[in-house]
Amino acid sequence: MIRVVLFDIDGTLIHTGGAGVKAFARAFSEEFGLHDGSENLKFAGRTDVSLVREFFNLHKIDPTPEHFQRFFNVYIHWLEKMVADCDGGIFQGVENFFAQMNLLAGRPAVGLLTGNIKRGAEIKLRHFGIWDRFAFGGFADDHEERDHIAAVARQRGEKHFGKPVRNDEVLVIGDTPLDVRCARAIGAKVLAVATGSYTVAQLREYQPDWAAEDLAAVDATQILSD
Ligand SMILES: [Mg+2]
Repeated sequence: MIRVVLFDIDGTLIHTGGAGVKAFARAFSEEFGLHDGSENLKFAGRTDVSLVREFFNLHKIDPTPEHFQRFFNVYIHWLEKMVADCDGGIFQGVENFFAQMNLLAGRPAVGLLTGNIKRGAEIKLRHFGIWDRFAFGGFADDHEERDHIAAVARQRGEKHFGKPVRNDEVLVIGDTPLDVRCARAIGAKVLAVATGSYTVAQLREYQPDWAAEDLAAVDATQILSD
């Protein structure tokens, strides 16, 4: 039985039509006067903090806490605006997956495992009306590396579930090889969905327990009862 479910956000639950990436570029240009470079960053599966650090390194900006703070304040400002205007949405199958999960006798604790900073995650999910479905989460504010964020999210999930949870009673749902990797780092099961930038065939190379086109193509009851 799965006791704790940890959802990735971008490419898994929702897409923002590029609003997140645009807000990053805007914050770099507005706050640091840097107009290029962000197009070369590989965003999928990465954490916000590691992306900013890579950009700082690229442009010889000291990665001080003050610089991170300045960046994220402006980023959040733009993210709010850009998500409000975005051409995004919730992926097909998300609603149904939740509906099936809610019908289970022993409903798992449901949280987030994301490379977004918490304020960014909240802005995105509130916009689509699903922020309140997640009782807890692990975010880029908790750690810069996704594998460590997974450990934090798992710990919070267990606390929320209220009883000790085995590693293989945790399920990570994500859209990139880095989601698969971080699930393995905590000994969790993993469902990979091809709603982000990887195909099912590409995701299968990383040997997730399940891989599917989207959440509509999976039997949630079967996966959660496994
Ligand atoms: Mg993702």
